[in-house]
Amino acid sequence: PVMRDDVVAWLERCAAVLEENRDYLTQLDAAIGDADHGANMDRGFKAFMAKLPSVADKDIGTILKTLGMTLVATVGGAGGPLYGTFFLQMGVKTANKLMLTPEDWAEALEAGINGVIARGQARPGDKTMVDALLPALEAFKEAIRNSDSFGKALQRMAEAAEQGMKATIPMVARKGRASYLGERSAGHQDPGATSSYLILKAAADTWG
Ligand code: ADP
Ligand code: MG
Ligand code: MG
Repeated sequence: PVMRDDVVAWLERCAAVLEENRDYLTQLDAAIGDADHGANMDRGFKAFMAKLPSVADKDIGTILKTLGMTLVATVGGAGGPLYGTFFLQMGVKTANKLMLTPEDWAEALEAGINGVIARGQARPGDKTMVDALLPALEAFKEAIRNSDSFGKALQRMAEAAEQGMKATIPMVARKGRASYLGERSAGHQDPGATSSYLILKAAADTWG
């Protein structure tokens, strides 16, 4: 299983990876949005890193809820509230837990994604973070059903997230700022799908 300290290590890795990819995410958002997604994610996770010492010894739910609330409070636009909901709902699902089985992780991820969909109303194919998150969840659940190890299932999850991210390139955006471009949004990779891939890849790399 994944222990509380492993979850902390994942989130620290997310903060580092999002800092490293700040310019990359901003370039992607410059093409079809307002060029702030890298700065948004980096600002949100840095604000969380400042709060992490005060919650790092709490249960997993408290840690994830704190991240969600911090993103809602510090990141504007669409991405902040959507990722805020994602981590908040993961935190609700993992309340009082000090470790996660593969089934717990699948349930938490599903709750987070359902929160994003409930809030943003994006469907698969709309060229959003949902296009990376949903196939990743499906791949993880399928791997668990096939009795793959937790590590192997996480690897499958990250691969599916990467494929989902790349699949956003030809899509025409139907949600968020990119949808203002209509057909001209095609040919560009969605920034939110890219940050979602990076976040799930960080889990696979940390725990795999
Ligand atoms: P903003 O567009 O307000 O500047 P960001 O740049 O931080 O916010 O985030 C943009 C990303 O948010 C998009 O690339 C897309 O993946 C995601 N997004 C936008 N609207 C939605 C939505 N309704 N549902 C799901 N994801 C969305
Ligand atoms: Mg933006
Ligand atoms: Mg913006």
